[in-house]
Amino acid sequence: MSKKVSKIGVLTSGGDSPGMNAAIRAVVRTALYNKMEVFGIMHGYTGMVEDDIIKMDGRSVANIIQRGGTILKTSRCMEFMQPEGRKKAYENLQKRGINGLVIIGGDGSFRGAQTFSNEFDIPCIGLPGTIDKDIAGTDYTIGFDTAVNTALDAIDKIRDTAAAHDRVFFIEVMGRDAGFIAVESGIGGGAEFVLVPETKSDIDLIVKSLKNLRKSKSSSIIVVAEGDELGSAETIMKLVKDQIQDPSKDFKVTTLGHIQRGGKPTARDRVLASRCGMAAVEGLLAGKTNCMAGVMNGQVVYTPFEDCIGKPKPLIPDHLKLIHLLSI
Ligand code: ADP
Repeated sequence: MSKKVSKIGVLTSGGDSPGMNAAIRAVVRTALYNKMEVFGIMHGYTGMVEDDIIKMDGRSVANIIQRGGTILKTSRCMEFMQPEGRKKAYENLQKRGINGLVIIGGDGSFRGAQTFSNEFDIPCIGLPGTIDKDIAGTDYTIGFDTAVNTALDAIDKIRDTAAAHDRVFFIEVMGRDAGFIAVESGIGGGAEFVLVPETKSDIDLIVKSLKNLRKSKSSSIIVVAEGDELGSAETIMKLVKDQIQDPSKDFKVTTLGHIQRGGKPTARDRVLASRCGMAAVEGLLAGKTNCMAGVMNGQVVYTPFEDCIGKPKPLIPDHLKLIHLLSI
């Protein structure tokens, strides 16, 4: 049996998300509360491989809960994908006596953690840090709520100008291969259509509806998830425009892009990050490894990495029905 975890490293890895700082703060403070030593690993796995590791104390996480981004920085680390890179990373942890890791990131980061903890005797616990909400084993991920609210704020503003000019807007939101941000910002923003990779997008239906637009309303918002199978918002707009063939109709495309990753985390994201951060450290102390701390049905749960990584996470069926029903 491995030794009780007494010195932990914390890192943020892969795509950043608002709320990562709140998670770091919770990890550091819970560890200190439990008389552990804590090290911040800079730039994700890169800091582990290149020995960019700093000692943290209670003050190093002061005044960060409200800040977007991550004070530990993040990156994608190719060297960590190779056994030699992971060996270097292990040696750098050993040098300091670090015997537990908390990884805040998405499923790629968990894949790395799983490989690492199988190769070396270092327990690893993950926190779901991604705006995409595409991780099984947790109802929400850290950053999702903030990203949806940022998208929603933009959609509200675009709706004003869409209405003023009787325009049809195609708004592309992030989400990688998942449609969660599109669906929730689409419901909240009153979109007429939401196109997501999980369901077949029906151009004919959109064309039919837009041809009738004058009869019902003058402007429309169509939210497109970046991973939609028909392509980008620009591509879909062109498909629709070509079929409508009406020069009087004005089509516009807005790609929201990286604004969705930034900004002050919402209360929900701060609370989720804090709960998961505390749970990760308590999990390490209780001897857990190779799992993610998440929240499901209001309760903290630990799910093995293998059940979180690459597992399909279905959209909530009611959500798509809602959009259709409420857009009449
Ligand atoms: P995310 O965690 O946001 O999904 P990535 O997929 O880019 O982000 O993964 C983050 C990092 O995790 C990668 O840059 C790499 O260092 C590490 N990683 C991902 N997959 C593996 C793997 N199979 N083996 C080792 N490390 C991996």
